[in-house]
Amino acid sequence: MSLEDYKGVYIFAQQVDNHIDNIAFELLGKARDLAKPLNTQVTAVLIGYQVGGLADELAEYGADRVIVVDDPELKEYRTEPYAHALASVIEKYKPEIMLVGATAIGRDLGPTVSARVHTGLTADCTSLDIGDFPLQPKPNQEQKHNQLLMTRPAFGGNTIATIACPDNRPQMSTVRPGVMEKITPIKGAKAEVINYNPGFTPDDRYVTIEKVVKKVSETVDIQKAKILVSGGRGVGSPENFQILKDLADVLGGEVSCSRAVVDNGWAPKDLQVGQTGKTVRPNIYFAIGISGAIQHVAGMEESDLIIAINKDESAPIFDVADIGIVGDLNKIVPKLTADIKAEIAKKA
Ligand code: FAD
Repeated sequence: MSLEDYKGVYIFAQQVDNHIDNIAFELLGKARDLAKPLNTQVTAVLIGYQVGGLADELAEYGADRVIVVDDPELKEYRTEPYAHALASVIEKYKPEIMLVGATAIGRDLGPTVSARVHTGLTADCTSLDIGDFPLQPKPNQEQKHNQLLMTRPAFGGNTIATIACPDNRPQMSTVRPGVMEKITPIKGAKAEVINYNPGFTPDDRYVTIEKVVKKVSETVDIQKAKILVSGGRGVGSPENFQILKDLADVLGGEVSCSRAVVDNGWAPKDLQVGQTGKTVRPNIYFAIGISGAIQHVAGMEESDLIIAINKDESAPIFDVADIGIVGDLNKIVPKLTADIKAEIAKKA
């Protein structure tokens, strides 16, 4: 493998039912940042059936090029044909960096493809940068430049590790939804579109889909909320979450929670924020009765404004909060809701 042959920052543009998933736009935003110091192009790899029409949307979110692999075998996601498609693109076009979303599809596809093209993959990265590796020069070890530095929590979130892949290409990483920021779309932007089909020959690894049954979600998508009122074990009971719901309602926000709440069976897992839940970055994040464990903070620290309410003034949540209120949430939250309601009524 000659590393110099590998050029460009690529993203896997996940689509389902011919709708591009938000994660593709977030990855494009990050890919643009990474492409700048490398002085290279951003390429989206779009895999599916009759998906060519989606290329313009990818261009508007920052793709210079779109490689489209279009085939009836790719109508629904299945590991084998998708892995064949992406691995074939990598072998032919030789990207330096390949980013995949850490979605249910990406978590299956990314590692399968990395094994097939004989490179490593760092999963669930929370930050990606271009820099030197090792980070500090070491005697008798070459410090390589312009490497992808992939940062992620390790050992159950108790430490943060920066990982590189200096001897193999592409450098592959998965990133969870909500971690990276998409750019403001550039209306009318166009990308170079390349159609490529490596050929698909079904074999015994091709799963046959008998029926697709869609799950109807009964919970809101907390990653889309602009205001989140998040509760922790300190809320005390599932019934007491009503005071958080009241606050969320007056603000036009949604309720989310910590893992302790999910583990207690007070709320569904879809509402959990954190390392093993969802990553959110709302305009306002209320952390109410949440201690601020590192695994929780990993999922919300990028919020624009963090307001913490906790009766323990030494709770670690106050280290990341922009506004901290020390006191009993049972008194503070209803008062806050009533005051906001009164303000709204005054202005109406
Ligand atoms: P606690 O830590 O029990 O905190 C409750 C807080 O409420 C306390 O600070 C207390 O002072 C305050 N309080 C109590 N009563 C009141 C009151 N009346 N008024 C005001 N404040 C009050 N956690 C997550 O949240 N998300 C994750 O994705 C996640 N992933 C994990 C992954 C791994 C591998 C591991 C090991 C752990 C993970 N955790 C995660 C768990 C995490 O370590 C913490 O245990 C969890 O976040 C604690 O939840 P909590 O803050 O609600 O509860």
